Amino acid sequence: MPTITSSRQLVRYVLLVNLFALTVALSVDLTTQLVFFTSWAAVARTCAITIATVGVIATPVALVFGRAQRELQIAKRRLEEISRTDPLTGLPNRRALLEASEAPSLQTMVLVIVDIDHFKIVNDKHGHRTGDHVLQMIGNTMATHLSDFGLVGRLGGEEFALISSHTPVERVVAAIGDLLRALERTPIITPAGAVQVTMSAGIALRDPAETFETLYADADEALSEAKRLGRNQIRLSSRAKALVPSGRPAGPTSLVVNV
Ligand code: GH3
Ligand code: MG
Ligand code: MG
Repeated sequence: MPTITSSRQLVRYVLLVNLFALTVALSVDLTTQLVFFTSWAAVARTCAITIATVGVIATPVALVFGRAQRELQIAKRRLEEISRTDPLTGLPNRRALLEASEAPSLQTMVLVIVDIDHFKIVNDKHGHRTGDHVLQMIGNTMATHLSDFGLVGRLGGEEFALISSHTPVERVVAAIGDLLRALERTPIITPAGAVQVTMSAGIALRDPAETFETLYADADEALSEAKRLGRNQIRLSSRAKALVPSGRPAGPTSLVVNV
């Protein structure tokens, strides 16, 4: 089926159908004329009638089919978009993140999982709607500040992720450190009042040959360690630790980053 998602493609489709129908009809016409030739005037008359008939029939038929096809393809595209979007924050969802992680890449991939600390308390204390508002604000802030590094999405619940395959891990660590520090200092303003939250992060690295599951498990383990060690901090997976220079790169990149 041809791709028809714009008016231009629809016009192209109608013209192509007309051209095809015309070619078939004129071929039949000319073959008939070869057998029953009477005069050139008769040939010209028959061809003119064929061209007009094809135009009158093929154009509306092609338009009906083309429009139906366009509606269908637009709806399909929209559905695919929805299936990869988190409805609360508008960010790419887990599925979109997973697909992005599976895209072929020759570079080492960095996965950051960020989890809001004690988020259950936010819901219990301020209500679920305020909790939703906090998730939206955090999602928004992450997208604004981290999109240059890669794809920012919501994994689910109060967990967000950044997948990057073009930024050195130390720069990602520095950016996450800045984000955690900024969040610690800045209460989130919601309709129910100001809400103070902190976040913890786990960061892992993946070689092109490894699966996303391994990467996710590594980042999740690093995140659990960050939680265990008191929250509001970044932990790196063992492999990420080995790759981050032990010197002092720009930003808060010590292996345990207390922000
Ligand atoms: P920790 O610091 O260990 O991560 O503690 P936590 O309370 O953040 O984690 P826990 O897993 O105990 O609770 C997560 C909470 O997040 C519970 C759940 O109701 C809430 N939550 C998950 N999804 C949503 C959502 O879409 N909206 C709101 N408002 N709350 C959500
Ligand atoms: Mg949490
Ligand atoms: Mg969680």
